[in-house]
Amino acid sequence: MQARPEIADLRPYQPGKPASALRRELGLERIVKLGSNEGPRGPFPAAVEALADAAPGLNRYPEGGAELLERLAGRHGLTPDRVAPGNGADGVIANLALAYLRPGDEALMGWPSFVSYRLSAVKMGATPVPVPLRDGSYDLEAMAAAVTAATRIAYVCSPNNPTGGIVSGDALAGFLDAVPERVLVVIDSAYHEYVTDPAHVDAIAAHAGRPNVVVLRTFSKIYGLAGLRIGYGVAPAPVVAELGKVRGPFDVSELAQVAAVASLDDEPELERRRSENEGERRRLESELGARGVKLYPAAANFVCAEVGDGAALAARLEREGVIVRPLAPFGAPACVRVTVGLGDENDAFLTALDRSLQPA
Ligand SMILES: *Cc1c(COP(=O)(O)O)cnc(C)c1O
Repeated sequence: MQARPEIADLRPYQPGKPASALRRELGLERIVKLGSNEGPRGPFPAAVEALADAAPGLNRYPEGGAELLERLAGRHGLTPDRVAPGNGADGVIANLALAYLRPGDEALMGWPSFVSYRLSAVKMGATPVPVPLRDGSYDLEAMAAAVTAATRIAYVCSPNNPTGGIVSGDALAGFLDAVPERVLVVIDSAYHEYVTDPAHVDAIAAHAGRPNVVVLRTFSKIYGLAGLRIGYGVAPAPVVAELGKVRGPFDVSELAQVAAVASLDDEPELERRRSENEGERRRLESELGARGVKLYPAAANFVCAEVGDGAALAARLEREGVIVRPLAPFGAPACVRVTVGLGDENDAFLTALDRSLQPA
């Protein structure tokens, strides 16, 4: 059977190596998974409780999601018609492509960056236009210069996955002022809750009033709900309405909804996780620096290290039971991305790294 030619060259998404597979392969008790930027801690306690409470009702389809939309909107001081939920932020990215991209359209993005921007555009027959990063962060001047009459979406990932750098509030405002209103600017803030650098702005508070700005958030990272799949976009009401047309029915599960809502009330837990991550990331940065490893500036829960041959180092670490992400699929074959784990996980990574760096 002939599928659409647009997808002929695509490969199924390659997730980071699963810990269970490596545990079996190596016969090791303990695998340290620092490959997929998940938070190292599980769901918030209130979310675990809400999940248990909701389980017996799962014979029913999810409710309409009104509470979720109200709570998310309230969090940002907006009305519920400004919130587009998704099966992960990735689901929102897919819906944006479905709603806005046609063959011949261009989707602008920094590169290396989150591969979904590229894949979702290709699937629609649109053309991804990659703009090289500057020292690990989006180069918004170069991005503005790359806008053409065909540009429909421009992605800004800050902090950028996989390099970790942010764009400053000033640079972002300048970019938004420079880009024509017919271009939908999608600001991906998947790591927003981790960032402590004062140069970073809350893009929702600063820019959600603009008619062409969508800001993405997720529960997959600091909230520890990656396995459940829930994220959302904050957008102008007409954009939310368009996304509603292409979203699948019930694509945010009941469990995802109740867990997300329950997570929103625990600010102290959020703050604990943020500060724990910050301390551990700084420690990793200094330990890696002391070993002469070149790092990109990092603002979230991961670091990007230039190591010569990323795939080779990742393979050596894997044999030590530590999973990191080689970045060839992101367009950075010299690099690995290492998620900040708990203290003892980061220790295990450093020990494995020292063994891996020793000449054989
Ligand atoms: C993890 C991540 C997401 C969110 O993914 P989910 O689909 O919500 O799990 C979005 N953008 C970037 C840049 C990410 O790293």
